[in-house]
Amino acid sequence: MSRTAVNRLIYWVSGLILTLAVIGVANTHRQNAETNEPLNSPAAQEIRLRGRIVCLPEEMHKLYHADVPANHEHLYGFKATNEAFYTLLRTNLSEALFIDKRLQEKELIIKGRTFPKTQILEAISLQSVHNGIVHELYYYCETCAIRTVAPGDCVCCQAPVELVEKPLKLAPLPD
Ligand SMILES: [Zn+2]
Ligand SMILES: [Zn+2]
Repeated sequence: MSRTAVNRLIYWVSGLILTLAVIGVANTHRQNAETNEPLNSPAAQEIRLRGRIVCLPEEMHKLYHADVPANHEHLYGFKATNEAFYTLLRTNLSEALFIDKRLQEKELIIKGRTFPKTQILEAISLQSVHNGIVHELYYYCETCAIRTVAPGDCVCCQAPVELVEKPLKLAPLPD
């Protein structure tokens, strides 16, 4: 082989190695982009649960003797009829569950989402159950005919809104 031919071969081989290296780096980048891409992560799951609002530390104390001081800040969650516990995200819609003691005494149906690898529940709608009948649950100002999702003063006339439970005869009852 002539010197020129050897040089040309070395040139060609190093070019090939460089090309492969570039492809390798590009692939690694693509994989990283995929693993970091939130759109490719598993979707949140829609769920409809029947149960009650509980203080999670107190429940964990009762069930497993979790070391919870008697004087603690309540951490409200949802205990479903299947005995599963959910941590409730505090949102505009779920706010009523945290501040209205009347809701904490009711049997409820929460439609919402749970997130992958968690028992975190985001409420999307609230209903109550009385004598086996599902009730729509909301707050209302009679004077202004304004409906809200949380207790407090009416945005219009500033009078306190009333809690309303309206029977929904055809709504199915979850287990
Ligand atoms: Zn508590
Ligand atoms: Zn009003």
